[in-house]
Amino acid sequence: MSSTNGTTSDLDSDLAGEFADDLDAELSSGVQSRAQAVPDEEPPPEPQFASVYDFVEQHLVLIYARNVNKPGRRWCKQWWDHKEAMSRFEALWRAYEQMRTDPGSAMSSWWLDHADRQMAVLLDPDGPFDGCSAEFDRHEPAADYLPVEPMTDDFLRELMSGNYSEGNR
Ligand SMILES: [Zn+2]
Repeated sequence: MSSTNGTTSDLDSDLAGEFADDLDAELSSGVQSRAQAVPDEEPPPEPQFASVYDFVEQHLVLIYARNVNKPGRRWCKQWWDHKEAMSRFEALWRAYEQMRTDPGSAMSSWWLDHADRQMAVLLDPDGPFDGCSAEFDRHEPAADYLPVEPMTDDFLRELMSGNYSEGNR
């Protein structure tokens, strides 16, 4: 019985080996033809800039040149020390890296929907650079955060958590 089992299992493993080879060949040809048919499965291109810092210093401030000494605009040379500005610049950078290789209208959308709108908020005299001045080399942010008081109402906290349902009442 043991020898029969041995023979059978040898045969099995031979068959299994052949099957695995066939499967490998099938899979790799399938992967190949899929890759050829759907080019957007290729890995995304390398980012043009290594960091948000590089993006702002080497690109954005050059292509978005404005006279920031006008009363209607505010800028800070230490832009990297403003949390909101950093977050907005990072969002702009990510959108730029995603859209820049599109051969169609994506870059126009980047300008109109992202750059113009973000820069309007950033350069606004009441925006994140309020209190700072590029003209007078001043970095004195008017606000570090919005003032808040801790909430002591546990029921209201539960309502705001998203875990609330009639059953939990
Ligand atoms: Zn500042």
